[in-house]
Amino acid sequence: PRKPFRGAPAAGKPENMSDCLFCKIRDGLIPAKVVYRDDMCVAFEDINPQAPTHVLFIPHKHIPTVNDITAEDRELVGHLFTAAAKVAQERGHADPNDGYRVVMNTHAHAGQTVFHIHLHLLAGRPLGWPPG
Ligand code: IMP
Repeated sequence: PRKPFRGAPAAGKPENMSDCLFCKIRDGLIPAKVVYRDDMCVAFEDINPQAPTHVLFIPHKHIPTVNDITAEDRELVGHLFTAAAKVAQERGHADPNDGYRVVMNTHAHAGQTVFHIHLHLLAGRPLGWPPG
Protein backbone atom coordinates (compact mmCIF):
# COMPACT_ATOMS: atom_id res chain seq x y z
CA PRO A 1 0.00 0.00 0.00
CA ARG A 2 1.12 3.53 -0.77
CA LYS A 3 2.11 5.82 2.07
CA PRO A 4 -0.44 8.61 2.58
CA PHE A 5 0.63 12.05 1.29
CA ARG A 6 1.12 14.24 4.33
CA GLY A 7 1.01 17.63 2.63
CA ALA A 8 3.82 19.80 1.36
CA PRO A 9 7.20 18.87 2.87
CA ALA A 10 8.98 21.41 5.05
CA ALA A 11 10.92 24.23 3.37
CA GLY A 12 14.59 23.50 2.88
CA LYS A 13 14.08 19.76 2.49
CA PRO A 14 15.07 18.35 -0.88
CA GLU A 15 11.39 17.54 -1.45
CA ASN A 16 10.58 21.26 -1.50
CA MET A 17 13.24 23.13 -3.45
CA SER A 18 12.33 26.80 -3.21
CA ASP A 19 13.89 27.60 -6.58
CA CYS A 20 12.21 24.73 -8.43
CA LEU A 21 9.48 25.73 -10.90
CA PHE A 22 7.70 22.39 -10.67
CA CYS A 23 7.77 22.36 -6.84
CA LYS A 24 6.01 25.74 -7.07
CA ILE A 25 3.42 24.35 -9.49
CA ARG A 26 2.94 21.35 -7.17
CA ASP A 27 2.28 23.75 -4.28
CA GLY A 28 -0.03 26.03 -6.29
CA LEU A 29 2.40 28.98 -6.05
CA ILE A 30 2.58 29.19 -9.86
CA PRO A 31 -0.62 28.62 -11.82
CA ALA A 32 -0.95 25.60 -14.08
CA LYS A 33 -3.76 23.77 -15.81
CA VAL A 34 -3.79 20.77 -13.48
CA VAL A 35 -5.48 17.76 -15.09
CA TYR A 36 -4.77 15.12 -12.44
CA ARG A 37 -3.55 15.03 -8.84
CA ASP A 38 -3.21 12.33 -6.23
CA ASP A 39 -1.08 11.58 -3.16
CA MET A 40 2.06 10.89 -5.20
CA CYS A 41 1.93 13.01 -8.36
CA VAL A 42 0.52 16.05 -10.12
CA ALA A 43 -0.16 16.34 -13.85
CA PHE A 44 -0.59 19.60 -15.75
CA GLU A 45 -0.70 20.88 -19.32
CA ASP A 46 2.68 21.77 -20.81
CA ILE A 47 2.91 25.54 -21.35
CA ASN A 48 4.44 25.01 -24.81
CA PRO A 49 2.61 21.95 -26.15
CA GLN A 50 4.36 19.88 -28.79
CA ALA A 51 1.24 17.84 -29.61
CA PRO A 52 -2.53 18.21 -29.10
CA THR A 53 -2.08 16.30 -25.82
CA HIS A 54 1.07 17.35 -23.94
CA VAL A 55 0.77 16.73 -20.21
CA LEU A 56 3.60 16.60 -17.65
CA PHE A 57 3.46 14.16 -14.71
CA ILE A 58 5.64 15.10 -11.74
CA PRO A 59 6.15 13.34 -8.43
CA HIS A 60 5.45 15.44 -5.33
CA LYS A 61 8.97 14.50 -4.29
CA HIS A 62 11.67 16.72 -5.78
CA ILE A 63 13.98 14.44 -7.79
CA PRO A 64 16.22 16.48 -10.13
CA THR A 65 16.94 13.94 -12.88
CA VAL A 66 16.48 10.28 -13.77
CA ASN A 67 20.06 9.83 -12.48
CA ASP A 68 18.81 10.70 -8.99
CA ILE A 69 16.07 8.04 -8.84
CA THR A 70 16.83 5.50 -6.11
CA ALA A 71 15.41 2.11 -5.21
CA GLU A 72 13.04 3.76 -2.72
CA ASP A 73 11.49 5.74 -5.61
CA ARG A 74 10.50 2.68 -7.63
CA GLU A 75 6.83 2.78 -6.69
CA LEU A 76 6.71 6.53 -7.23
CA VAL A 77 8.21 6.33 -10.71
CA GLY A 78 5.99 3.42 -11.66
CA HIS A 79 3.04 5.46 -10.44
CA LEU A 80 3.84 8.25 -12.93
CA PHE A 81 3.35 5.72 -15.73
CA THR A 82 0.00 4.43 -14.44
CA ALA A 83 -1.21 8.04 -13.98
CA ALA A 84 -0.11 8.91 -17.54
CA ALA A 85 -1.84 5.83 -18.93
CA LYS A 86 -5.03 6.81 -17.08
CA VAL A 87 -5.07 10.30 -18.60
CA ALA A 88 -4.16 8.87 -22.02
CA GLN A 89 -7.10 6.48 -21.76
CA GLU A 90 -9.48 9.25 -20.68
CA ARG A 91 -8.52 11.20 -23.80
CA GLY A 92 -8.97 8.27 -26.12
CA HIS A 93 -5.27 7.72 -26.81
CA ALA A 94 -5.25 4.15 -25.45
CA ASP A 95 -7.04 3.03 -28.63
CA PRO A 96 -4.62 0.95 -30.79
CA ASN A 97 -5.51 3.18 -33.74
CA ASP A 98 -4.45 6.25 -31.77
CA GLY A 99 -1.50 5.88 -29.36
CA TYR A 100 0.82 8.02 -27.30
CA ARG A 101 4.39 8.47 -26.11
CA VAL A 102 5.77 8.90 -22.59
CA VAL A 103 9.31 10.20 -22.19
CA MET A 104 11.71 11.73 -19.65
CA ASN A 105 14.60 13.88 -20.88
CA THR A 106 17.88 13.81 -18.96
CA HIS A 107 20.51 16.53 -19.17
CA ALA A 108 21.87 18.51 -22.08
CA HIS A 109 21.71 16.25 -25.11
CA ALA A 110 18.14 15.23 -24.30
CA GLY A 111 17.13 18.86 -23.77
CA GLN A 112 16.16 18.74 -20.09
CA THR A 113 15.29 22.27 -18.99
CA VAL A 114 13.46 21.72 -15.67
CA PHE A 115 15.33 19.74 -13.03
CA HIS A 116 12.41 18.06 -11.27
CA ILE A 117 11.66 14.83 -13.09
CA HIS A 118 8.58 14.89 -15.29
CA LEU A 119 7.07 12.31 -17.57
CA HIS A 120 5.89 13.89 -20.80
CA LEU A 121 2.67 12.44 -22.23
CA LEU A 122 2.49 13.30 -25.93
CA ALA A 123 -0.40 12.31 -28.18
CA GLY A 124 -3.00 13.45 -30.66
CA ARG A 125 -0.86 13.35 -33.80
CA PRO A 126 1.52 10.86 -35.43
CA LEU A 127 4.81 11.05 -33.52
CA GLY A 128 8.00 10.66 -35.52
CA TRP A 129 10.70 8.15 -34.63
CA PRO A 130 13.55 8.53 -33.95
CA PRO A 131 12.89 11.76 -32.05
CA GLY A 132 15.05 14.74 -32.90
P1 IMP B 1 12.17 19.20 -20.40
O1 IMP B 1 12.73 19.96 -21.57
O2 IMP B 1 12.06 17.73 -20.65
O3 IMP B 1 12.89 19.54 -19.13
O4 IMP B 1 10.66 19.68 -20.28
C1 IMP B 1 10.28 20.83 -19.60
C2 IMP B 1 8.90 21.16 -20.08
O5 IMP B 1 8.31 22.04 -19.17
C3 IMP B 1 8.87 21.84 -21.45
O6 IMP B 1 8.08 21.06 -22.34
C4 IMP B 1 8.27 23.19 -21.14
O7 IMP B 1 7.41 23.65 -22.17
C5 IMP B 1 7.50 22.94 -19.87
N1 IMP B 1 7.32 24.08 -19.01
C6 IMP B 1 8.22 25.04 -18.68
N2 IMP B 1 7.68 25.94 -17.83
C7 IMP B 1 6.39 25.53 -17.64
C8 IMP B 1 5.31 26.08 -16.86
O8 IMP B 1 5.40 27.09 -16.17
N3 IMP B 1 4.12 25.39 -16.92
C9 IMP B 1 3.98 24.26 -17.67
N4 IMP B 1 4.97 23.73 -18.39
C10 IMP B 1 6.15 24.36 -18.38
